[in-house]
Amino acid sequence: MKNISTESKLTILGCGAAVPSLIRYNTAQILEMDDKIFLIDCGEGTQWQLIKYKISVYKIDVIFISHLHGDHFLGLPGLLNTLSLYGRKEKLTVFGPKGLKKIISTSINIIPGFPTYELVIIEISGNKKRNIYKTENIQVSSFPLQHGIMCFGYHFEYKVSLINIIKDKFEKSRLPLQAAQSFKLGKNFNIENKVYNFKEYTIFKKIRHTYTYITDTLFLPEISTFFKNTKLLYHESTYMNNLLDKAKMTYHSTCVQAAEFAKLCNAELLILGHFSSRYNETEDMLAEARTIYEKTDVAEDGKVFYIK
Ligand SMILES: [Zn+2]
Repeated sequence: MKNISTESKLTILGCGAAVPSLIRYNTAQILEMDDKIFLIDCGEGTQWQLIKYKISVYKIDVIFISHLHGDHFLGLPGLLNTLSLYGRKEKLTVFGPKGLKKIISTSINIIPGFPTYELVIIEISGNKKRNIYKTENIQVSSFPLQHGIMCFGYHFEYKVSLINIIKDKFEKSRLPLQAAQSFKLGKNFNIENKVYNFKEYTIFKKIRHTYTYITDTLFLPEISTFFKNTKLLYHESTYMNNLLDKAKMTYHSTCVQAAEFAKLCNAELLILGHFSSRYNETEDMLAEARTIYEKTDVAEDGKVFYIK
C-alpha cells in the first residue's frame, strides 16, 4: 500500500510576463500532488530553473500548457528533448490547446533520435470546463479563459481518506501491533476467536487539496463558482489597477481583479503572478490587492507554497 500524501507543494519556477527579464523567468510551475509531479506551463529557461531549485526534470509525470504564447511554452521543445538525452522510457503526456501537436511534431521531425519515449500530446478545445486527467486520488479539469487566442486554466483536486488510530483506545486494548496495521487498512483483526472491529479503534480523516491555475485572461467573475473554497488560487496579475484599460486591451487582468476573483471563490490563499516587466518590485501590487482580499501573497521565482 502506498503512503498517503498529506501535503501538496507548488514551486514557482517563473512568474514574469511576456519578455524575458533578469528578475523573473517566464511562466512555469511545478505542482507535487500525491505521488505525481506536474509541470504547468513551460516558458523559456524552465530547465535551468528546475536545476536551480533541485527538481528533477526526469520525474515530471504530466505537463499542462495554458496557451501558445511564447512565454508559456517555448521551453517545452528543449525540455522534451532533454528527456530523450536522459533516455527516458516512460510515457509522457502533455495537455495543451489545439496547435501544440503541430509545434512538437515539427521539433520531432528536425531533431534526430527524439523522442526515446512515448510522447502523447492531448489537445484541448471547446468552451466548457471538463475533466481531462484522473488517477486514483487526483482529478484535473481544464476550463477556457479569454485571452484573444485559445487559452485554458487548470484545476487540480486531490481527495483521499485517511484512517487514523485512536491512540489511547488502542493502547488500552493491549492488542498487538499487527492489529493496528490491519485497522489502518480498514480491516478487522481476529485473535483468539474474537473479532475486533477497526471502526471502534480508528477515525476517518478526509484530505482534500485543490489548486486553481488561472493565467492570461480577462477578468472572468462568472467562472468563480466552479472554484468555491479552493485552497490555493494562482491568478494572473499582469498590471496594477491604474492600467486597467491596458489590461483589457491586452486580454489580461489587474491585481484588483485577481483579488476580486479570489474573494468570489473564497480562496484560502491567492497568489498573484505573471507580472509585467515594468514592475521590479511587487510590494505596491500586493498592498493594492490586499485592500480587496487580505489572504493574498505574491509569486516569486523559487518561492514554495504548501497545501495542507
Ligand atoms: Zn499570453
